[in-house]
Amino acid sequence: MDRSGQSCEASFGETRSYARRVGRVIGSFRHLRAVLVSNVFLLDGGRGDRWLIDCGHWSERFTLLFELRRAGLRPSDLTGVLLTHLHSDHAGNARYLQRVHGVRIHAHRRDAETLARAERARMVRGEGSQIAGLIAEFENYWPARLDVDRALDDGERVAGLEVHWIPGHTDGSVFYRHEGTGALLSGDSLLTALPPLVIRRGFALPYSTFSADLPRAIESVRAFHARGVPYEHLLPGHGPPIVGGAREAALAFLDSTAKVG
Ligand SMILES: [Zn+2]
Repeated sequence: MDRSGQSCEASFGETRSYARRVGRVIGSFRHLRAVLVSNVFLLDGGRGDRWLIDCGHWSERFTLLFELRRAGLRPSDLTGVLLTHLHSDHAGNARYLQRVHGVRIHAHRRDAETLARAERARMVRGEGSQIAGLIAEFENYWPARLDVDRALDDGERVAGLEVHWIPGHTDGSVFYRHEGTGALLSGDSLLTALPPLVIRRGFALPYSTFSADLPRAIESVRAFHARGVPYEHLLPGHGPPIVGGAREAALAFLDSTAKVG
């Protein structure tokens, strides 16, 4: 196994045992691990400063509520939800949380525009597995739809997080970087497993079937890393979090894919 693979697996192991005990990833980030289709993270800075990064697929609504309860919270205790992008496995409970519990929903301006549209999503099909094709069809017919409360722009700050626009997987995909802990929440633009669910563990770039513009997505991820933005930990949209050394491992992975590709 190459260098990136080794450091990746070591981090996965540490994180799994730690998270199993307390659900905490780093600082005040908690991984709501019972939510399986995609990763939902809770950033709990106390009353008035409680955020979800993504909120899961609607089919896992009760699991999400259970996890919030286990964290000692009611949905209405949430200050807001920060969406990494518009796909329904990440934004599927946003409308429910907003309408029923008054939770404010945030997304990048480009995805906010699409989320507010009446027409159906257009997903790329063709490449990828048959299962991925079926999931893409599902997304075409039942996309997440809502009017977000606040549209975000590149460079903005919210909840102690910097917004980095990473267009490609969707037009309005973002990374959120948390300055306090050095955590990077990467959505589906940089993964530690191959979705849907976890087909294969390890670093992965966005899956072609689900990406609006795959070359642009990859270029956005590379450009972000070329800018030298520091981070220590990776909290991706699918796959286990990496605690410590995440940027170096990601750089090694990006380097290896550049050589292959
Ligand atoms: Zn996605």
